[in-house]
Amino acid sequence: MIHLDISREKWEELESYHKEYIRITFPDNLRKFLTDTKVSAEDKNLLKAVFKKQNILFKDNGEIDENNLQEVVRWCISEDIDILADRTEKENLFNGLFPGIGTKKKESPNDRALKENCISNLLKIFGYSGFSDGKKVLMKNGNGWNRHSFMAELGIKVCPYCNRQYITSYFIGVNKDKKDSEKQSAETENEMARTTTDTDHYYPKSFFPLLSMNIHNMIPSCQICNSRMKLNKVRSKEERHLYPYKDKSSILKFEINFDKLEDLYNFSQSDIKISLKYPKRGEYHKRAEQSVELFKLEQIYQAHTDIVYCLKENMKNYSEKKYEKIFCKNYGEIFGSYDEFLRILYPFLNEDEKNVPLTKMKKDIYKFIRSKGNED
Ligand SMILES: [Zn+2]
Repeated sequence: MIHLDISREKWEELESYHKEYIRITFPDNLRKFLTDTKVSAEDKNLLKAVFKKQNILFKDNGEIDENNLQEVVRWCISEDIDILADRTEKENLFNGLFPGIGTKKKESPNDRALKENCISNLLKIFGYSGFSDGKKVLMKNGNGWNRHSFMAELGIKVCPYCNRQYITSYFIGVNKDKKDSEKQSAETENEMARTTTDTDHYYPKSFFPLLSMNIHNMIPSCQICNSRMKLNKVRSKEERHLYPYKDKSSILKFEINFDKLEDLYNFSQSDIKISLKYPKRGEYHKRAEQSVELFKLEQIYQAHTDIVYCLKENMKNYSEKKYEKIFCKNYGEIFGSYDEFLRILYPFLNEDEKNVPLTKMKKDIYKFIRSKGNED
């Protein structure tokens, strides 16, 4: 996993757009739901009870006052998502709202259906699906605030979970397929952000619906990590993995299965097993373990033993002593120093792992081999 270092200043700017966006969309979505005659009274009452449990109150017609709206906004821009997750985990969300729970052996099919309905209603009211596009709020560069522009503003080029796939953004002209109202406002500007990234919900929407629109819960990630590896496998806070916005990249470290320098220099490509090391206990242990397991990091990185083999061969063939003996003598004018020589030989040492795939693995394995000593 790669740490995504977004400054507080940047977060504040993004939070301010999002705050405005929620203030516009949430009351509208809520009013539409509560006045929808096709929705049963039972569904409406459960939804109200869920919000009331979180100290969010509103009238039957969906009218919501300033204080309560501020509380909704807090759910969407607060960075304390671990604390909020405790309160909104699927089971905690409904605790105490179904009198039968705890006395019956099993929840009734009707109760289960009510809960599922309530979760999909919460998702509709928070409105993540509508966040994919549109220009309800304008950013200071004149573009509309939505999922695409949010991802583009973060400026992350490579998936933080696997560090293998590019997830860059691009810009297009006005989208001609948009409805008239949107087209009209879009015509005043030149471009719209589009992104090749998926947006992973760190705490998945279907189990933590109240965090479905929290921007600190939305992580840019590649489609493989989000849609093929993770899916809905994180069902509770206990099952969460490392969190790229706060956890450091160094918690996970790539290693290979050789201990002595002698063995290291003699292995062939087929002998290599790439693994990930992480703390054996303490606050990061479990989450690091979940990251390795969930995104199948050890398995997918096994495809890159060729790179490790090349790296090892270079380290073996171009030690400092050999550099002095061969290169300094013959090409001393080209390379100013051994450090400069290393920079040319191992360009990844100066690359940012957020921008270039596989950089984390290359750096870690390079350090790992160096830590075992140098050959003469
Ligand atoms: Zn990925």
